[in-house]
Amino acid sequence: MARHLIWFRADLRTIDNTALHSACLDPQAEVIALFFISTEQWQQHQMAGCRVDFDLRTLTVLSQTLATLNIPLIICHSPHFNSQIDDLSDFCKQHHIEAVYYNFQYEINERKRDLAVKEKLSQAGIHCFGYHDQCIVAPSTLLTGEGKYYSVYTPFKKSWLQAVQRQAVVVYPAPQKRISCPLTSSVVPNVLSEFSSHLSPAFAQQEWPAGEEVALTRLHDFCRHHIRRYQQERDFPALNHTSRLSPYLANGSLSLRQCYQAATLEAADYGASKDIDHWISELIWRDFYKHIMVGFSRVCKHLPFRLETRQLKWRHDEADFQRWCDGKTGFPLVDAAMRQLNTTGWMHNRLRMVTAMFLTKDLFIDWRWGERYFMERLIDGDLSANNGGWQWSASTGNDAAPYFRIFNPARQSEKFDPQGTFIRQFVPELAHLDDKQIHEPHAKQFQVGLNYPTPMVNHKTASAETIQHFQSLKQID
Ligand code: FAD
Repeated sequence: MARHLIWFRADLRTIDNTALHSACLDPQAEVIALFFISTEQWQQHQMAGCRVDFDLRTLTVLSQTLATLNIPLIICHSPHFNSQIDDLSDFCKQHHIEAVYYNFQYEINERKRDLAVKEKLSQAGIHCFGYHDQCIVAPSTLLTGEGKYYSVYTPFKKSWLQAVQRQAVVVYPAPQKRISCPLTSSVVPNVLSEFSSHLSPAFAQQEWPAGEEVALTRLHDFCRHHIRRYQQERDFPALNHTSRLSPYLANGSLSLRQCYQAATLEAADYGASKDIDHWISELIWRDFYKHIMVGFSRVCKHLPFRLETRQLKWRHDEADFQRWCDGKTGFPLVDAAMRQLNTTGWMHNRLRMVTAMFLTKDLFIDWRWGERYFMERLIDGDLSANNGGWQWSASTGNDAAPYFRIFNPARQSEKFDPQGTFIRQFVPELAHLDDKQIHEPHAKQFQVGLNYPTPMVNHKTASAETIQHFQSLKQID
């Protein structure tokens, strides 16, 4: 009897999992699932403790779901990333595996590992099947007229939309129950002690319950209640009306295709709308940054996309950086946002842009410091989206914010948190201020004596200096 192995990585779900679907096509084959816990790999990716915790909880749910399908989930420790190659080969030999199925990961080290795995397994006569699954449109299938990867979002989006018109987006159901398999599922080990999670387990569990069922419920709730107001409401952090699906997409409890399908079904059932299109365009941003990571692998090494920006002499001031991390810059919206990240493991998109731009343009601190800090704290940390967001904010990226268009944190605050509701929630020492003062508590016209830091920079002067740094760059071809 054939025995197939499904190797789970960043795709912790049973519905719409291309590799799992393929591994189960032969109804007679026994199917075993495998997951490697590699603390080195998680450390290399600077994964936040709350993300590790979330993934472990997701694995527990996945294991239970797989058990109902008669697919045991075996969890192996492979502390060193590259030892996965030998460990996988040994596992296959020991358990007489005929074929291994997995979905591609696009980070550079993961791609190298997969090539080595394929070579090693082929030598041992074991079939190896890899699938494009993370993106709706697979990298390398969407290229410019010159056969290159897109580096600008708008033409990428146009071409992406044409691709999904040409080829319908298919969502696979969960596989049918299999014949039983003699192996027993592993207990998910607790390796959290090697990572410090800044969230309490009870809070994490309540705020971010794990598993594909929860993810699907959240997706359908969002489509039912909020997607039709997405365009108006998406920029207001106090409303909290974006989907908040990013953690589930990051570890693959949910696929991007499921999101796309839910949005297009909503449009088909109740009418198309600009809001739905807008949400889909955010999903396309996710695909875009994954394609960038494949086409321009220097971003995996945290090198700037725009080569001339390598000349920038970013500041490496530990004390100033720490004030930003702690949410003590004296700019209420920036501080509220950083405290949201520190206490919930997540930050609203508008605020990610505001805080990233503040660090890079007002403090002129190296964007890589911020990129790293986000990864160490975010429950949805994702190399391509995080790097893309940071390089956009720092104006070092492809299709980035123009270097001279610098957000004024106080104006952003007045526009996107007009009553200061969000600030009051995360910066309680300012909660008693009125709707005007809360955006700039130390402005001249207001009384002094607050237990809140004065602004650590003058926004006007700091941004003028940053613009000068960019203007002095010499072009590199
Ligand atoms: P929604 O608004 O509901 O959007 C739906 C989904 O679309 C998101 O879950 C996400 O998967 C995708 N998406 C939305 N906006 C973007 C975007 N700009 N780029 C790529 N994908 C997007 N996103 C991450 O998933 N992980 C990160 O580590 C990450 N770091 C970021 C760092 C910075 C500096 C910036 C500016 C953005 C970053 N983003 C990151 C993108 C974005 O902020 C989050 O995806 C979004 O806030 C998640 O909230 P949501 O699920 O409610 O999004």
